[in-house]
Amino acid sequence: MAKFTCYVCSKPVITGQKFTFTKNGAVHYYCFISEKSKTVVEQNAEKLSVLSQLLESELQHLINILNIKDMPGELKELIDKKYKDIEKAVVETTNAINSL
Ligand SMILES: [Zn+2]
Repeated sequence: MAKFTCYVCSKPVITGQKFTFTKNGAVHYYCFISEKSKTVVEQNAEKLSVLSQLLESELQHLINILNIKDMPGELKELIDKKYKDIEKAVVETTNAINSL
């Protein structure tokens, strides 16, 4: 697995942590949300709150899938597909937060 550094806190981004990618690179979930909350305009604050909860649950979902142990071989394809579907959702939510 490639190593990434968070562009906010400059610490490594490690598999098992909640993180996402923006055009600036890899970023921890908490770093991303706290940076965004500094610049978000008042009328978007509630949207940021909802979208950040959504992103956190999507990221937790990814971590849960990564944590599945002893996966039966016949399920690998299905679970890989699920993982990619949620990754896509993470990208959408990240973009929605970025555009606030
Ligand atoms: Zn960070």
